[in-house]
Amino acid sequence: MFDPQVLQVVAAALKDARVIFIAAHIQPDGDCVGSQLALGHALRALGKEVALALDDKLPDNLNFLNGFREIKPREPQAEDLFVYVDGSDTGRYGKAFNRARSGARPVILIDHHITNEPFGDLNLVDPDAASTAEIIFQVIRALDVPFSPDMAQALLTGIVTDTMGFRTTPTTPETLEQGAELVRAGASIPEIIDRVYNRRSYAALRVLGYAIEHSQLQANVIWSAIDYKTLQTFGGNGNGTGGIVTQLLTVAEADISFFLAEKADGKIDLSLRSRVNADVSNAARRLGGGGHKQAAGATLPPPFETAAQRVLTALQQETKP
Ligand code: 5GP
Ligand code: MN
Repeated sequence: MFDPQVLQVVAAALKDARVIFIAAHIQPDGDCVGSQLALGHALRALGKEVALALDDKLPDNLNFLNGFREIKPREPQAEDLFVYVDGSDTGRYGKAFNRARSGARPVILIDHHITNEPFGDLNLVDPDAASTAEIIFQVIRALDVPFSPDMAQALLTGIVTDTMGFRTTPTTPETLEQGAELVRAGASIPEIIDRVYNRRSYAALRVLGYAIEHSQLQANVIWSAIDYKTLQTFGGNGNGTGGIVTQLLTVAEADISFFLAEKADGKIDLSLRSRVNADVSNAARRLGGGGHKQAAGATLPPPFETAAQRVLTALQQETKP
């Protein structure tokens, strides 16, 4: 839990500002985009001007959220206040974080990562929250703004995606209560599930098939990897590989899964997942990334050929079974 006083200070700072910059993290997901959009809608309801920043490609499966198309790569400009959501360190925001440009104007971090570096002037951080959206829910409450259907749908998207549909361990009674309130305010769980999970491209389905076909089980770790050239043979835009690591962890013999996807620039995206008896956040941190106990990630340098062994070594060093 965060300090309730910090919540009040954050709400007061937001009320005082006129133009507010809100940034989501790179490799965006439903929680960062949902949190960003919901806060943006709430601040507009208070008459504020809002700039929505994201220094990466937008995930197509979130385009059903109103306001999605206003999110663009931007750097800090003349805004009064800078809010960063759901990314645990400044590197997660790319060009959207730039102290040389934002200068002495206040920076607020709102996040739920256990590997968090509190880089803001105000840090509203709760590593026990299942999603950043749940913290934004409380911020909007503290602002005294009633939930509109757009705010509700954006927040519920954050909660549903980070809890994988209320399935992960950090899901608490409060998470479910917030979900109920958001549904009452006009949000729709069936729409979120349909748009986010049940609209894989055919190319992404075939990448999943490849990943399963080439998976390896070593002790309690299941993993798979795809190089950029092979990824290209399936066509598509490289979107939609996000769920693969979760599929791998449905295997009974495994407690940990990871998936490696080589990118066009030779760097490698690593996704890690674990059951509750293992913690992958420290291994991710050792590899230069971060995340949660049960879901973490990193970007690895080349070469692709040694990447899996590097991850297996980090897991051996860092995982307490
Ligand atoms: P995913 O596997 O879904 O990409 O990421 C799982 C979790 O790990 C998310 O909470 C995400 O924020 C975190 N994560 C993924 N990649 C990185 C990274 O490169 N650096 C850090 N700090 N966290 C990451
Ligand atoms: Mn999150």
